[in-house]
Amino acid sequence: MINLDDTIVAISSPRGSGARGIVRLSGPEAVAIAAGVFSASTGDEPGAVADSRYLEGQIEVAPGRLPGAAYLFRAPRSYTRQDVVELHLLGAPGVLALVVEACLTAGARRAEPGEFTARAFLAGAFDLSQVHGIAGMIAARSDHQLRAAERLLHGALARTARKAREELAELLSLVEGALDFADEPIEFITVGELQQRLNAVQESLRSTAAAGLRAERWGQLAHVVLAGEPNVGKSSLLNRLTGLDRAICAPLAGTTRDVLSAPLEMEATECLLIDVAGLMDEYEAEGLHGRIQAAARQAMRHADLVLQVVDAGSDVDQARVEGAVLGVCSAPRIIVANKSDLLSPDRRAVVDEELRRRTGSPVCLISAVTGEGCEALKVEIERALSGRPVDVHDASIALMAEHRDALERSIDALERAIGLASECDEALMNAELVAAELHTAAEALGTLVGQEDVEDLLGRIFSRFCIGK
Ligand code: GDP
Repeated sequence: MINLDDTIVAISSPRGSGARGIVRLSGPEAVAIAAGVFSASTGDEPGAVADSRYLEGQIEVAPGRLPGAAYLFRAPRSYTRQDVVELHLLGAPGVLALVVEACLTAGARRAEPGEFTARAFLAGAFDLSQVHGIAGMIAARSDHQLRAAERLLHGALARTARKAREELAELLSLVEGALDFADEPIEFITVGELQQRLNAVQESLRSTAAAGLRAERWGQLAHVVLAGEPNVGKSSLLNRLTGLDRAICAPLAGTTRDVLSAPLEMEATECLLIDVAGLMDEYEAEGLHGRIQAAARQAMRHADLVLQVVDAGSDVDQARVEGAVLGVCSAPRIIVANKSDLLSPDRRAVVDEELRRRTGSPVCLISAVTGEGCEALKVEIERALSGRPVDVHDASIALMAEHRDALERSIDALERAIGLASECDEALMNAELVAAELHTAAEALGTLVGQEDVEDLLGRIFSRFCIGK
């Protein structure tokens, strides 16, 4: 349970060194605690921070004082709707940590991950879909995901859902009007018009759900799998390309003990590079090896691209090159002939040509040890992935599973309502079931727009209507 009465503190600028760093405080004591750490250069009294929006001054840290500035956002006009003070200073991680320490000593508590946003949400600053948007933005791995998260944050989903919900509430009030005033000769809405308007709502929810699915597909980075015989240099290549030292490289065959992966950044995009254990012969596929093999094959099945690594120095046998991949995966592949540093210049051209001819796939001659050919390989990977069937539509929204679930429940209820409406008489005098489904459809959208109750919404619309007057 989140305690809102504490004053929380955290570094809120991005990780690592930057020109400027920010330490943020939120809570009832934010101003008092900041005043203990910060002294303004104008305004002599230590409490000067209490009344100004922006102050330059000095920040007290254990070994001395540093120039800095304080921004004050008074409740409720702040991100969290509480008093918020931001201390801006030099962006050195060590210094920022000291400022946080000083605030802790002065009575603040270290903020939990996402706690500033949680406070903002609890104070009603934004709805749940916007919270998800912020979470998505923090976790976004690519530009595309970031843009999708931004759209969500700016309420694209909430806006669609709110509009749909208002239309549903209005239709519901018309249907309920027809039911309540069945004895009166008043026509509230015809079956045809009801169905037509329900279809329109359903259509808008469908296209929102579809946009979300597209964004989600993007969220999963392309999987590029390193395949090949043991000892050809797959682990070395993973290290070389990603700059990480994750895989264990050893001169012993079969030293890669598990599936290892690391993100690989290219010119415009990013993919996940996965190193699987050398695919060995079937008779070895028992026990631990069997499990590793199974994991390797599974990774291959989900691959968007396979880098088939071969040792350019040994006589590359086509049957072995094919055998390791065929039957497991149908993804496009690039033949990566590694250890080019061991070849004479004449031999390089021959190997390159030979492999191209035998396999019919693009070939990159590289050395994981010297780095030769590795940039060209990245370009080739990016080119191979550029044909991935991903449509990053402008309207795509980073939908989370929960949102999709809510949209689907609403769409299903509308489907039933449209079907039921066709069984009603023209004056909708027997439309109780339609009304019930409309209720369900509107309620399902509730999680997307915040906490407003359907009854409240109805109340609002009825007050506009003045039925019975
Ligand atoms: P894996 O079993 O396919 O993952 O292969 P490793 O990455 O563990 O490499 C096997 C051996 O080949 C190690 O001794 C590496 O140092 C060596 N090796 C890998 N890449 C190259 C290369 O480009 N040139 C040379 N000369 N040796 C390499």
